[in-house]
Amino acid sequence: MAKIETPQPIRGAQSLLGEEADRFHEVVAAFDRVRRLYGFKRVEVPLIEPTQVFARTMGETTDVVSKEMYSFDDRSGDSITLRPEFTAGICRAYLSEGWQRFVPLKVATHGAAFRYERPQKGRYRQFHQLDAEIIGAAEPQADVELLALGSQLLAELGIGAVTLKLNTLGDAESRDSWRSQLVEHFAAHRGELSEDSQERLEKNPLRILDSKDPRDRKFVETAPVMTPSAEAEDFFGKVRQGLDAAGVAYELDPHLVRGLDYYRHTAFEFVTDQLGAQGTVIAGGRYDGLVEQLGGPHTPAVGWAAGIERLAMMIDAPAIELIDAAIVVEDDVAMDSAWAAATRLRKAGLSVEIVASGSPRKRFDRAVKKGAREIIVLGAADGEVTRRVKSNDVPRVEALLA
Ligand code: ATP
Ligand code: MG
Repeated sequence: MAKIETPQPIRGAQSLLGEEADRFHEVVAAFDRVRRLYGFKRVEVPLIEPTQVFARTMGETTDVVSKEMYSFDDRSGDSITLRPEFTAGICRAYLSEGWQRFVPLKVATHGAAFRYERPQKGRYRQFHQLDAEIIGAAEPQADVELLALGSQLLAELGIGAVTLKLNTLGDAESRDSWRSQLVEHFAAHRGELSEDSQERLEKNPLRILDSKDPRDRKFVETAPVMTPSAEAEDFFGKVRQGLDAAGVAYELDPHLVRGLDYYRHTAFEFVTDQLGAQGTVIAGGRYDGLVEQLGGPHTPAVGWAAGIERLAMMIDAPAIELIDAAIVVEDDVAMDSAWAAATRLRKAGLSVEIVASGSPRKRFDRAVKKGAREIIVLGAADGEVTRRVKSNDVPRVEALLA
């Protein structure tokens, strides 16, 4: 018979066990605690959406849409895309599920996202994001609240080496005039830009500022910065005032733009220098134009997404969870008693492991190694089940089994 080959994983799709999985869930658990403190409701949205949901909102010329989406035709011939991010899908649901009546809608979620990128440390094809959005809120307070949420999350995770970088992209008017200045600036160096940026020059010059290509960097450094309109300046001033009052530190970065088309006003990233080129751990901003792109009414909104894997790499290893009790079955006669005891203890909320396999003489040592707080040894004498309890902690088991 031909040898069966072991399937390999999809490149850039990770499987986690033990400490790595614990770190991942520590990040998710912290997010879930903190989002409640800020009154964000949990939402669930599909992993698959019609391709148009992302193509229309994220902009046909963004890297994500032009190169990174996992799109395929399903059996009915409809083009479907695995979500590359949450925002567009949440806004689709906001419109199609009638969530407009809950405005301002403060929602949080987490889960997998997919992008066809070159896999490397901190960059995967299946990765996972935390996501927080406030939809239907025009006030700068919404931006402040989201940034405070991000900042508290990082603090609770014990991640200290992070800087909040902040910029304003202005309103439509100031953004348009900045756009022409950028075209003029970059067009003067057209031939020296990367191929991608030469293309961006035609379609969306702002995005050149986001380029990681070293050929573009020196022209990015000398690029003109945006002069916000009086209105945009006022909005940004209120965001900054709120951050100061809430005790959230930030640095202004006039060249910070977001890679996606729909951003206006506030744009931000929480960045660390600990993860090399993959240093952005939380990124987001205000996307007042997105819901309209989906055919909805004008709806101001702001949100962010964080890479769970990147945060997980930065936290201390979570403490190993001890089990409350191990039941060592020294004699098979005691097996039924072990099940009865385990059921009773687990129903009382204690974590229990039964050790009933392998050499009987080694079972007790294995229970010790598991770090059980209490060890119940079930043996047999004259056909009767015997019980000894060895306690390392408050003896809870005796009372429960009595
Ligand atoms: P980058 O500049 O690192 O490519 P991005 O601008 O594409 O990030 P966003 O679309 O803003 O990222 O996504 C928000 C966050 O999701 C990022 O800051 C990062 O933490 C995480 N993220 C994005 N792409 C990946 C990926 N391929 N693997 C792991 N995490 C990712
Ligand atoms: Mg990217």
